[in-house]
Amino acid sequence: MATVCHRLEPYSSAIPVTQPRVVIVGAGHAGGTAAALLRQFGHEGPITLLGEEPLPPYQRPPLSKAWLKGEAGAEDLFLKGDGFYTQHGIDLRLSTRVEAIDRSGSAVVLEGGERLPYERLILAAGARPRRLPLPGAELEGVLELRNAADAERLKSALGPGRRLAVIGGGYIGLEVAASARALGAEVVVLEREHRLLPRVAGQDLSGFFCAYHGARGVDCRMGAAVAALERSGGAIAAVRLSNGSSIDCDLALVGVGAQPNLELAQAAGLDCADGVIVDIEARTSDPAIYAIGDVTWRPLPLYDRMFRLESVPNALEQARQAAASICGRPAPVPEVPWFWSDQYDLKLQIAGLSFDPDRIVIRGDVSSARFATFHLKDRRVLCVEAVNAPAEFMGGRLLIGRRAEVDPERLADSAVSMKEVAA
Ligand code: FAD
Repeated sequence: MATVCHRLEPYSSAIPVTQPRVVIVGAGHAGGTAAALLRQFGHEGPITLLGEEPLPPYQRPPLSKAWLKGEAGAEDLFLKGDGFYTQHGIDLRLSTRVEAIDRSGSAVVLEGGERLPYERLILAAGARPRRLPLPGAELEGVLELRNAADAERLKSALGPGRRLAVIGGGYIGLEVAASARALGAEVVVLEREHRLLPRVAGQDLSGFFCAYHGARGVDCRMGAAVAALERSGGAIAAVRLSNGSSIDCDLALVGVGAQPNLELAQAAGLDCADGVIVDIEARTSDPAIYAIGDVTWRPLPLYDRMFRLESVPNALEQARQAAASICGRPAPVPEVPWFWSDQYDLKLQIAGLSFDPDRIVIRGDVSSARFATFHLKDRRVLCVEAVNAPAEFMGGRLLIGRRAEVDPERLADSAVSMKEVAA
């Protein structure tokens, strides 16, 4: 993630307007939730929800997990049922791309030139996959995974005996690897760093996932820097590494991280870092404009720093912050950030963030795939990574929120319950 940018003091409060006209840019998890929460909190003014995708707001997590494996249907993805937006007077406009924000005229400009006035704007434009700046990245069979259309392409390309090269050993890459194995594909994961999940997990968890995938037939190669994608006709045929070796494949999934969709905010002159800079009420440097979800560079009060999070709980928390602020409600209490990932029969739940830990405590039995790693600093829990260990996740989350000191020996001892550790 990019450099830390300090913006921990609140931006100036919103200008009071009763029941303002709200326009939301981006009909994803954050935007869809904000629209629903505004109504739930009693907002009676007009709400327009603009999304460039052809689908109403849907959940992305199943696209690499249950949906990809065929265990969930398309209808299970939608945030709200048929008719919700009409019933609640939310003007949902799909396949509608916003081209610009005209701050001086308080309007957004749509593709085609139509102008929509706003009194409050919520920017919920999300993020997009990083592209590989490599020869062959445009070949047929080189895929990415962010939206439902990407997922359709991936699903139709997978099947028994298909050879998939996953470029990037992050969460999305590993989830796709697990799902592809369930569909009978042969899978190689190529990670440039020397462990899986290098940016987002501790060493112990990385090692565990590497062994777990390996035991299920996934060939995980570390230190594997991709130099080029090789073709057969117009389609991918192999991935060439910088050490000169080649891995033959029928398709490649590029999962090398995401970048925030910042262009609208930058062109409109909003303060930005590695995301649109917001305060604890999701307000940007313009008091009439909020930003929520993956697109933001947000305060983390528990860690006294700014950061960009890419998770559903973050999208939900910031949607709540923006809706509460627009409705004149008190700011919600800051939450402990959390995240989950499902791979094979593993349920990974992570709470908190591991900024400069000075001690790692492992609790439970790694070999039985039921354990948690706690990242501590000055005896306080910064982060817990819990594998099939919901009590450890819940207990850890509580400890992080309380900034409570713990006894590392008791924390490591599974005979002492998490309740007792947290007491
Ligand atoms: P999005 O959901 O991406 O929505 C942004 C929307 O804005 C998009 O529809 C985009 O097309 C639209 N948009 C952008 N620009 C414009 C414009 N100019 N005009 C109109 N519309 C625009 N998180 C977890 O917590 N757990 C998981 O297990 C997990 N798994 C994931 C698996 C996958 C495959 C992916 C892709 C993500 C996963 N995530 C997971 C992350 C989670 O889905 C995101 O954090 C969440 O969707 C962020 O919500 P958002 O509304 O900020 O962005």
